[in-house]
Amino acid sequence: MAQKVPLVDLHAQYRAIQPAIDSAIQSVIERTAFIMGPDVRSFEDEFARFCTSTHAVGVASGTAALELTLRACGIGAGDEVVTSAHTFIATAEAISAVGARPVFADIDARTYNLDAHAVEAVLTPATRAILPVHIYGQPADMDALAVLATRHNLVLIEDAAQAHGATWNGRTVGVLGDAACFSFYPGKNLGAYGDAGAVTTNDAQIAERVSLLRNHGRHSKYLHDIKGYGERMDTLQAAILRAKLEHLADWTDARRRLAARYSELLAGCEVVLPYVDPAADPAWHLYVIRTPARDALLAHLNANGIGAGVHYPVPLHLQPAYADLGYQRGDLPVTETVADTCLSLPLYPEMTDEQQEYVVDAIRSFLDQ
Ligand SMILES: *Cc1c(COP(=O)(O)O)cnc(C)c1O
Repeated sequence: MAQKVPLVDLHAQYRAIQPAIDSAIQSVIERTAFIMGPDVRSFEDEFARFCTSTHAVGVASGTAALELTLRACGIGAGDEVVTSAHTFIATAEAISAVGARPVFADIDARTYNLDAHAVEAVLTPATRAILPVHIYGQPADMDALAVLATRHNLVLIEDAAQAHGATWNGRTVGVLGDAACFSFYPGKNLGAYGDAGAVTTNDAQIAERVSLLRNHGRHSKYLHDIKGYGERMDTLQAAILRAKLEHLADWTDARRRLAARYSELLAGCEVVLPYVDPAADPAWHLYVIRTPARDALLAHLNANGIGAGVHYPVPLHLQPAYADLGYQRGDLPVTETVADTCLSLPLYPEMTDEQQEYVVDAIRSFLDQ
């Protein structure tokens, strides 16, 4: 069956702002400043303002943002970084890439974010950093994690790849730790037309180091202060992101309205609805429900032309790629239960009320069977 309601609809968004996108792309081509052109700097300034951070550094992807931030904080071989296993694999891959060891702590059963007590239980003398993920756009408990980080002298880095514009106690993600890592993968709340990412921080030294590391360690064209990497943000992506950033607050409002409406329409259904921490105003990258009948409900929705998905079906501690860490099923019980039961419903700013009702009707007809 043809898709009636996709999981995300990037076409609808392009159609709504096509003239601005097309002219942004055209102007980069006219200037031919494809690498580190003026749009990169302008986007960094504008994104820093959006996050209320003093610095933002554009990089090639969210993965690059994580890896360069860890390097900028001096994390490497022999170090342990505590993170969540209920996330996209890039969070852990960045830790591995710098030579450190990912240590997984279990998540909170309601918010699906790192549980600070579980984090505390896995700290060792080798722990150097905590890397919470604001999963689905809901901020992790940054108060509790900041207390731990201060007490144990750890770096606190946000994986904010899904949480552009979310707030925790009224403060925007991006300034809730030592640094924050954003992805502009096309399907993210702010999406480029290819790969892009950014690091935000109020720490001038971290910003300076990430800025050097992303561009071969150089201040000037042929003088390289340190050994770096080729992980710059493309000017074309920066120009597209500038055009889209103007709409991000409105798009986030639309996501919040649709999420609230899902919760209203699904009230009383035999499924677990998203819990919102009273301190959080999520950015609603995904609207995720839970049910033990997840696989059957997913099949039913897909058969009805609804692009529901699962984020993520296999937690990182059980991935073949991380078999070397020696984790077993049962080690992270909450993470495993959430992975077995979570289901992401279609959600994007351009979604119509009718599309949303169609999704809700399909869920209700499944549950009434
Ligand atoms: C998307 C994502 C990343 C990786 O970002 P890329 O831009 O695809 O490299 C990292 N962490 C989380 C939680 C993500 O959702």
